[in-house]
Amino acid sequence: LVTLNNIKKVFFTDDVETHALNEINLSINKGEYLSITGPSGCGKSTLLSLLGLLDTSTAGTYQLAGHEASDLSRDERAKIRNKEIGFIFQAFNLISDLSVAENVELPLTYRSDITKSQRAEMVKDALEKVDMQHRANHFPSQLSGGQQQRVAVARAIAGNPSIILADEPTGNLDSKNAQVVMSLLDRLHDQGATICMVTHDPRSAARAGRTIEVFDGKIVSDQLTEKSQAVVL
Ligand code: ATP
Ligand code: MG
Repeated sequence: LVTLNNIKKVFFTDDVETHALNEINLSINKGEYLSITGPSGCGKSTLLSLLGLLDTSTAGTYQLAGHEASDLSRDERAKIRNKEIGFIFQAFNLISDLSVAENVELPLTYRSDITKSQRAEMVKDALEKVDMQHRANHFPSQLSGGQQQRVAVARAIAGNPSIILADEPTGNLDSKNAQVVMSLLDRLHDQGATICMVTHDPRSAARAGRTIEVFDGKIVSDQLTEKSQAVVL
């Protein structure tokens, strides 16, 4: 589904060169649940931005769902991003003056392959999956943090993306709400979703089938977790 070959990312700012990623090689198969760990500043969010077509690499090639992503124009990238990628952020990133349903619908409005009535159906389905359908007409400020993140999960899954990218999805939540969101990701994975999640929390990382550790812009370990081994046995 995803293949990164010799990916490098250098940021140039005020005469300073930051080598955020060095020679990243990574493949992700359909249906995998992957976690990415590593110290602050090691390049995790940069890697997720490249995977999500939010940014481009300085060198290397990237294939996503049959697209040669490294060769795309900005417009083509946006189009593929809207279809293939679902994002979940630490800070939820809901739009405060849109309702819950409108937030979930927004990325779908950029898709020319979906009609208005299909859109309404997809929003309803996604909100049901995260058990937030009863709050469809509320606004983000009327929800708890955990509820806002559930809406963000609905927004990420509404368009049936090829891969869900989550950057510290439980970083702003208390442990109870973090559990709810992690269980939701577990369930989506059980239903076939491909998930790639950045996390500082070892317990969250252990829920994925595969864990990648990044250090100083390089992948220093790539291991199946006990969870996936348990499945194999
Ligand atoms: P954290 O765990 O703190 O979120 P991270 O592993 O996600 O850290 P990144 O955000 O990927 O780290 O940053 C990797 C390196 O790239 C850091 O040195 C950071 O300062 C630098 N960097 C990231 N984005 C930019 C940018 N837009 N411009 C310049 N430097 C950047
Ligand atoms: Mg980060």
